[in-house]
Amino acid sequence: MIVHPFNSGNANPNQGSYLIPWGNPNKNILQAMKKTLCLFFLSGLSIMHGQEQKYQGQPPIKIIATDSKPVQKQWKGKFNFPDHNVTFSNEFEGARLNGITQNNDSTYTALITSENTPINISPWYAFKVWAKKKETIDLFLTYQQSIKHRYYPKLSKDGIHWSALDSSRYKAYEKGDKAFGSGSLPLKVKLTLEVGPDTLWVAGQELQNSPLVNSWMDSLTQRKYITKSTIGKSTEGRNLNMISVGNTDSKNMIMIISRQHPPEVTGYLAMKAFVETISSDSKLARRFRKKFATYVVPLMNPDGVDNGFWRHNAGGIDLNRDWANFNQPETRAVKGFMESLVKKNHGKFYFGIDFHSTWDDIYYTVDPKLKGNMPNLVSNWLDKLKENIDGYDPNISPNDKLNPTTVSRNYFFVEHGAEALVFEVGDNTPREFLKEKAVTGANELMKLMLKEIKKQ
Ligand SMILES: [Zn+2]
Repeated sequence: MIVHPFNSGNANPNQGSYLIPWGNPNKNILQAMKKTLCLFFLSGLSIMHGQEQKYQGQPPIKIIATDSKPVQKQWKGKFNFPDHNVTFSNEFEGARLNGITQNNDSTYTALITSENTPINISPWYAFKVWAKKKETIDLFLTYQQSIKHRYYPKLSKDGIHWSALDSSRYKAYEKGDKAFGSGSLPLKVKLTLEVGPDTLWVAGQELQNSPLVNSWMDSLTQRKYITKSTIGKSTEGRNLNMISVGNTDSKNMIMIISRQHPPEVTGYLAMKAFVETISSDSKLARRFRKKFATYVVPLMNPDGVDNGFWRHNAGGIDLNRDWANFNQPETRAVKGFMESLVKKNHGKFYFGIDFHSTWDDIYYTVDPKLKGNMPNLVSNWLDKLKENIDGYDPNISPNDKLNPTTVSRNYFFVEHGAEALVFEVGDNTPREFLKEKAVTGANELMKLMLKEIKKQ
């Protein structure tokens, strides 16, 4: 499946990054984007404070119990308002709409709630709406207590091609004045929507549910050097699918995962472009695939994604806190796969990467003073990324507290010696730019690893 870039040049009152046209920019715009991008990203609201603000990253990871907890499943069906012939529906994978009321003839209020609490602010929503006749409606998006609106609305006519809602049709209420995090968000928002007999899809990001992820994986397996397999089952029994790219007899291995957290679609899109580059027909990729086997689990949390959860799996747990205890089947499947492969082929994982999304682009790395199977690979790689993208200065946050392993990066590094990082993409990073970073990143990584493996 091809993800089409957005085509509207909206100014999102939420984020400075929307000042950049999202379209399929021509070369000049792209060039200008690259040059000004960091400035734009880091500026946003911070211009108002008279100084540039850089996203400082998340506070230290809290170690929490990861035994399963109950989750609240949403009621599924059609919310029908017969007087006005308007219907809302959450009957599709990835939907989230917990309740809706009609305020007056043309105004509705939706309530979006999470699978359980406590939970961080990543209030995913996705639903369909249609009406017997064409009409304009106002729709408020509201959330449970202490949660604010985060994801700028995207619209689609088919659930596959998406564009951002025009900013003139978006109104934010009680918006915070911080550059990042909860303090930057509005309490609720109002969307003005044109509805009619044709279904309109509304979602926090482009929908990427398990059927779409699987069809992407299946499209890759058309190439004879890519195979798809199942490494386990999720809590609700969905397949945990993996694709293997390149020479699977090789003892030189890399591990790629994404979507532990369901709404983190921008990280997933970067992962896709990264994997497509390693799978491409370039001379570099062909050389790389002879020397290395790449293993990819694109959808770590299929239950969470298909249930429209904000953060957790069907066991009610943040999977990226379970890489020391392995109480959840999704993390256990990857651990089991990696360990049995190493045992079988006596190979080594040289690199591990986990794609996520957050308030702004950032790389959570392992402190470079700690050496794994290919020392300095990640810092050299990020240097190359900086060198090869005009005007780009990666925001890097190293960490040397890796025990207990808790998160995937620490597990990859501590248990396998894989040089590892978390690749975080901003919620509003222009899709063309996240793709460019991923493609350039994959190419530079392949070059570096081919050079380094010769020395081993
Ligand atoms: Zn995440």
